[in-house]
Amino acid sequence: VKDAKKIDQATLNSILEKNSQRFKLGKVADYIPELGKANAQSIALSVVNNDGTLVSAGDIHQKFTIQSISKIIALMIAVQESGEKAVFEKMGYFGTDKPFNHFGNLETMGKPLNPMMNAGAILTTALIKGNAEEPFAKILKMIRFITNNEQIDYSHAVYNSERETGHRNRGMFYIMRNNGLIDGEGEEKLNNYFKQCSIEITVEDLAKIGYFFANHCVRYDGNKQFQDPNLSQLIQSQMLIAGMYEFSGEYARTVGLPSKSGVGGGIAVSVPRNMGIGAFSPALDQHGNSLAGYHMILDLVNAKHLSLFD
Ligand code: GLU
Repeated sequence: VKDAKKIDQATLNSILEKNSQRFKLGKVADYIPELGKANAQSIALSVVNNDGTLVSAGDIHQKFTIQSISKIIALMIAVQESGEKAVFEKMGYFGTDKPFNHFGNLETMGKPLNPMMNAGAILTTALIKGNAEEPFAKILKMIRFITNNEQIDYSHAVYNSERETGHRNRGMFYIMRNNGLIDGEGEEKLNNYFKQCSIEITVEDLAKIGYFFANHCVRYDGNKQFQDPNLSQLIQSQMLIAGMYEFSGEYARTVGLPSKSGVGGGIAVSVPRNMGIGAFSPALDQHGNSLAGYHMILDLVNAKHLSLFD
């Protein structure tokens, strides 16, 4: 069955071509001014098949910031270090109809809804152990491991832009500090979150991240250093219920796969026990998901019957 689902170059090329003009109906994120500089026409699609082979089409060398997709890596590290129970005592497993930067029920329930929306993600990163930049360094190191790409680093320009304009995120951070969820001095823990969002990757890196969580945290080349079926199950469940912001429910209906998007235009998709997909195009829809990215994934899912519910 896995062989029948294997994706070839011709399939990717035609799906990319079909969606190459979609960007015209979307809008590049500019609430973080530095993100507004992205080339709206850029588009790329990549798959790591089950056997670990990579197939890619489009602007495969184009770097963009990982943004919210970093949240699944932060969650992985926080849970590895402290256990699921300790992390989810401080936040919920809830889905939402609210956008990524909504305060959710932070005030009423006193906790973030889930680790995929900003509030929970900021808290997740704050729970990672270590002083100053150490938590960020762990996230960067894990992304380099999963992608087997030591060149990966963060964009200082995007980081500065996020920090200068991220007042909503700062607001959430201080409410959580007030609630006793976050301790420490200053804004170091918040800065780690801004920094992790500013990590620059390519579409192939995203496909490798998707593959990793689809396959029990085993890397695409077979490296089993972090193998953990329980952890990949947790991460994929969060991706499924909240990985595509408030569009997650409808996305589960149409695509039906654990996925995580970022406002940089990337989407990482896990086809459980099978493959990883990466999609990139910076023009976003009204929910903050890559417009062409979504449609390329949808076309791929329909062509190869990849939905979990197919
Ligand atoms: N750095 C972005 C923010 O916190 C990430 C948002 C996203 O990708 O959804 O606003």
